[in-house]
Amino acid sequence: MTQQLAIQTFDIPQYALNMPSGPETPEGGWTWPYSTATLISGDEDAVLVDAVPTLKDSERLVDWIKASGKRPRTIYITHGHFDHYIGASIVLEHFPEASLVATKSTIEFIEEEKETGRDRAMWASLFSEDIVQTIVVPELTDGTLDIEGHKITAVEVGQSDITRSSYVHVPSLGAIIVGDIAYNQVHPTLIDSDHDKRLAWIQTLTDLLDLKPQIVVASHRTPDAENGIHAIEETIAYLRQANHFLAEKPSTPEFIAKMMAAFPSHKNPSTLIVGAVSLKLDEADGG
Ligand SMILES: [Zn+2]
Repeated sequence: MTQQLAIQTFDIPQYALNMPSGPETPEGGWTWPYSTATLISGDEDAVLVDAVPTLKDSERLVDWIKASGKRPRTIYITHGHFDHYIGASIVLEHFPEASLVATKSTIEFIEEEKETGRDRAMWASLFSEDIVQTIVVPELTDGTLDIEGHKITAVEVGQSDITRSSYVHVPSLGAIIVGDIAYNQVHPTLIDSDHDKRLAWIQTLTDLLDLKPQIVVASHRTPDAENGIHAIEETIAYLRQANHFLAEKPSTPEFIAKMMAAFPSHKNPSTLIVGAVSLKLDEADGG
């Protein structure tokens, strides 16, 4: 068995989005949040957790993995949002011996997008960079992702920013790679959420706290953010705060202003704004 596993992150910057400007346009314009892929490696073998959405960054990710000298045996996708899986096809071109795997619910989301092309069409029109268009549907994993005798497990959970998600647990490092279950110094998305879904997301996060992780890697993190348990605690605080403000029946601009004031150092207000608009607060039964 190799001595100890290592965890490294590959971070991509925020990207300008081509969205119509209006009263809600954030300072600095619309942006896509920082995104991260994570490499867990032993002496030679590695597991890549999630991919990145743009063509250019996917090629940079491949170069970064090659420079590490590690061989990805497995590419694991945490959940069915396009930014996490779409770039996997580029990684697979360069590491064809790697197996691309996910849980059942993630595979179902990806199969649906493969058929409809909805997300690819929308994001291709919004991104200032080319996004990857080729989808490879993952194979089903039983959750075992072990490297060189070290136990690594993929664990499916319920609600986060999508109805079903998952994380990767590396017990020997006390580490969890959580995809979008937690965000780190970046506004989490509230898109299409409601009070009960946010409570269910808080429960998912609370269950993660019970693991008492030393290392928590969120997919949307600022490149200089520490990968600590605070990512989980702050995401819980964010969702609780959102529910608290929403109970006061604010207008959309009021809600955005309150959340911005409550979380002033969080990056990428675009996510907050798009999420807030999706809640239709200015309609009678909103929030
Ligand atoms: Zn995401």
